[in-house]
Amino acid sequence: MKLPLPDSLWAATANPCPETQQLTGDLTADVAIVGAGFTGLRAALELSQQGVNVIVVDAGQVGWGASGRNGGQVNPIAHEAPETIQKKWAKLYGEKQATEYTERFTNVYMGAADELFALVKKHNIECSAEQNGWIRSVHGSAAIPAFETMLKGWQDAGADIEALDAAQVEKMSGSPSYGQGWIAKRAGSVQPMSYVRGLAGAALEAGATIYSDTRIETLSQESSQWKLTAATGSITADKVLLCTNGYSDQLMPGLAETVVPVISIQAATQVLTEAQSEAILPQRQTFADTRRVIFYFKKTAENRLVFGSAGVADEIPDAADRARIMKGLQTVYPQFPELKVDYIWGGRIAVTQDHLPHIHQPASGIYAGLGCNGRGVAMSTVMGRLLAEAVMGKADSELPLPVTAMKKYPFHRFHRTGIRLLVPIKELQDGYEARLR
Ligand SMILES: Cc1cc2nc3c(=O)[nH]c(=O)nc-3n(C[C@H](O)[C@H](O)[C@H](O)COP(=O)(O)OP(=O)(O)OC[C@H]3O[C@@H](n4cnc5c(N)ncnc54)[C@H](O)[C@@H]3O)c2cc1C
Repeated sequence: MKLPLPDSLWAATANPCPETQQLTGDLTADVAIVGAGFTGLRAALELSQQGVNVIVVDAGQVGWGASGRNGGQVNPIAHEAPETIQKKWAKLYGEKQATEYTERFTNVYMGAADELFALVKKHNIECSAEQNGWIRSVHGSAAIPAFETMLKGWQDAGADIEALDAAQVEKMSGSPSYGQGWIAKRAGSVQPMSYVRGLAGAALEAGATIYSDTRIETLSQESSQWKLTAATGSITADKVLLCTNGYSDQLMPGLAETVVPVISIQAATQVLTEAQSEAILPQRQTFADTRRVIFYFKKTAENRLVFGSAGVADEIPDAADRARIMKGLQTVYPQFPELKVDYIWGGRIAVTQDHLPHIHQPASGIYAGLGCNGRGVAMSTVMGRLLAEAVMGKADSELPLPVTAMKKYPFHRFHRTGIRLLVPIKELQDGYEARLR
C-alpha cells in the first residue's frame, strides 16, 4: 500500500518528483541508505559524486517524512548556546575534546544555511530559496535571560546575528505581540518539498538509485556485509546509513527510542491581501519565538503565511489542534481576525534529550544521523554530508559531532501521553508569561 502524502501546501505546489519505482529483486550496493529526506539524499548526492554505488530507499516517496512537511525555515543557529553545548560535552568527553567538538560544531552550524543555499545554486534546484534572515523574539520578559545568553554566545562564536529592540521586531514582523529579538542574517527559507525533490534529482543525476514505497523490514549481517530486506526485494551493501529521523521504526532496535517524535502542525493561509502582506513580514524574513510551545512562521513565494506550532493529536490535525493553530495565529496577528487557512497538516520532529543532533554507529558499517529538534532543514542537509564522510572513513574524532552510543529516552513508550499532558500545561505557562512583557 502506498503511503499518501499529506494534504499540504508544499505537496500541492511543489515541482514534480523525479520518477522512482518500488524496489524489486535482489540488488547490491556499496552503501544503502534508508530514508529519502534531506539527510539521506544529501548523503546519496555526496557519495555518488565520489563514484560510490548508492541505493536510497523510502517507505513513502521522496520527502514523505519531515523533509516534505516542514516550515521551510533555513536556520543556522542551534537550540543551545555554544557554552552550554561545551559544558554538556565536557561532562562526557573531558574539557579538551569538548572544546574541539564545540568549535567544529558551532562552525558547521553557523555555515549550514550558506551550505544549503550554495547547494541549491550549484544544482539549480528551484525551490523559492530566499536568504533574507531569521527573526527570533521573546514572548515575555521571563524568556529574556536565556535569550540574551543565546544571542551573546552565538555572537561570540562569530555568527552573523544582531540584536533588535521591540519596536524593530514589531516593524519587521508586523506583530504587536513580541518584545526584543535578534536577526540571524544568513538564515532564509525554501519550499521544502521542491527542495527535497531537487536534492533527489541531483542525487539521481550523480548516479544514485532511489526506490520509493519500499519499507525496509529487516537488517541482517551476512559475513562482512549487511542485507536490507523489504517485502518486494533486498539490497546487500557494504555500508548502511539510517536516515529515518522522527520516522524511525524498529529496523535498528533502540534507534527510535533515542528521540521523541513530537508532532508539529503547519497551516497555510489564503494568499494575503495587499494590506496584510505589507504589514506581515514586509522584508520576508522567517520568524520564530521563545515559547515552549513555539510559534513560527514565514511568507511563501505566493504570499501566503505558513504558521506552525505543536500538535498533540497526530500528523493529521484534529479539531483541537486546528483550533490551537488558529488561536496562535490570532495571538500573533490580532489585527487580522479575518485570516483564513487553506491547508493544514503535520509531521514528526525528532527531539533529543540534550537538544542536539546525534550521530550513532550502532554496528560496524552502520551510521545513523538524526535529531535536529525542529531545525533540520539546514542541519539535516549538513548531517547527510557528515554521514557520507563518516561512512567513507573519516575518523569519528574528526567529525563536528561526537559519535554517541544510542541512549533511550526514559519511559519512551509513554511519550504520546506525556505530550498530551505537557503541551496544554506549557501553553498556559507561555500565555501567562506573554502577559508579563
Ligand atoms: C511540521 C514540521 C515543521 C518543521 N519545520 C522546520 C523548519 O521550519 N526549519 C527547520 O530547520 N526544520 C524544520 N523541521 C525539521 C526538519 O523538517 C527535519 O529535521 C528534517 O526534515 C529531517 O530530515 P531527515 O531526512 O533526517 O528525515 P525525514 O525527512 O523525516 O525522512 C525520514 C524518512 O525515513 C523513511 N523511513 C523510516 N523508516 C523506514 C524504513 N524502515 N524503510 C524505508 N524508509 C523508512 C520515512 O518514510 C521518511 O521519509 C520541521 C519538521 C516538521 C515535522
